[in-house]
Amino acid sequence: MTLALGCIADDYTGASDLANTLTRCGLRTMQTIGVPRDDLALPEVDAVVVSLKSRSIAAPEAVAKSLAAEQWLRGRGAAHVMFKICSTFDSTDAGNIGPVMDALQADCGEPIVLVTPAFPETGRTVYQGNLFVGRVPLNESPLKDHPLNPMHDANLVRVLGRQSRSRIGLVDLVTVARGADAIRQRLALLANDGVRAAIVDAVFDRDLESIGLAALADRLSVGASGLGLGLARGLVASGYVRAAGQAMAEEQPIGGMAACLAGSCSQATLAQVAEAERVMPVLRLDPEQLVNGADETRRALQWAAEHLANGPVLIASSSTPEQVAALQARHGRDAAGHAIEQAMAALAQGLVAAGVRRLVVAGGETSGAVVDRLGIPGFLVGAEIAAGVPVLRAVGAAQGAMLLALKSGNFGGPAFFDDALRLMR
Ligand code: ADP
Repeated sequence: MTLALGCIADDYTGASDLANTLTRCGLRTMQTIGVPRDDLALPEVDAVVVSLKSRSIAAPEAVAKSLAAEQWLRGRGAAHVMFKICSTFDSTDAGNIGPVMDALQADCGEPIVLVTPAFPETGRTVYQGNLFVGRVPLNESPLKDHPLNPMHDANLVRVLGRQSRSRIGLVDLVTVARGADAIRQRLALLANDGVRAAIVDAVFDRDLESIGLAALADRLSVGASGLGLGLARGLVASGYVRAAGQAMAEEQPIGGMAACLAGSCSQATLAQVAEAERVMPVLRLDPEQLVNGADETRRALQWAAEHLANGPVLIASSSTPEQVAALQARHGRDAAGHAIEQAMAALAQGLVAAGVRRLVVAGGETSGAVVDRLGIPGFLVGAEIAAGVPVLRAVGAAQGAMLLALKSGNFGGPAFFDDALRLMR
């Protein structure tokens, strides 16, 4: 099997979002958790998205994992590899977008790399190198309060410049509007001037198609799911991939008990948890107790055992920005985040042991911790619950058939949890 497209995603929900986008564009897509073992039986697919959990770890570790993923993908014939980052460019000045990009570029020898987190249909646009989230610049959006990667600068030429060894340039919207050839010409000019990576503006969906076509001429690109959409459309338009049309993961219902876990503190997730209270039992965990030990997890599992037979339940650690800040002040940002992620993973493990086979998780890092703990090697991508969030069917899982939905904090409408469970039969 030869892959048309290989992708390396820096977190698991971002990987699901990208795999979902590729599927919608007609590519048969599998998402793997970590770099797959060589003996993992791959179904016939056009694209593989290798999900790493490398957004918030030390840069050298992120680089090593990304290079291993790249080698695995190239070994399966991927001519183009996309490094998938968050559409809000979540990263600190220490990385990891810049260091990983530099290492992948050195490995494949491309003179210049195209970079864009734009995805207009989800409100992420880039103009003159500045990233907008809806109507506001990144640094005025809720991302300024993110627990792990607070974003204080909307100018991505500057942000990436602080992370990368390379000089960073810009391909502006006027150039993008002139099409793929104009983008390529501009990239070549920049490369001649010693620029090694360029932020590419995109404001309209059609911009992504030009950018995708331009990117396919090279071996490497960096971007969010919007870039994935451009690449997938480019592959289909050029006849390199025949659009599969139908999501491949639609099979028999699996039934079994259902539960939701929320570890995201995003505004969207806070509203979704509040809305879920109208349709299912909701347990709000005490974050202080979660950080302090396993008693809170045991209490939650007992509570779940009393309710699961009657229908789905939701367990949430989510709190408001003020409460998050207070907890972080007492325990440290990373220690608090990690402890709560591990508690949520332990909860997931306990829920699956109790018979849950349909699991919805809100929060990127939280989802990563959960999927790692469950030890699921990969997923086939199915129907879309909300923009960027597909139903995932486990492949090769020790627990047998399972459906999951992994949601990045900001994604989904107010009724997300109920919407997900309706599609996860
Ligand atoms: P998102 O997708 O919204 O970014 P993540 O799961 O990636 O969500 O990140 C949320 C982080 O906040 C995780 O590290 C999680 O453990 C942590 N967290 C969850 N609940 C709380 C809380 N009540 N107080 C502080 N941190 C929390």
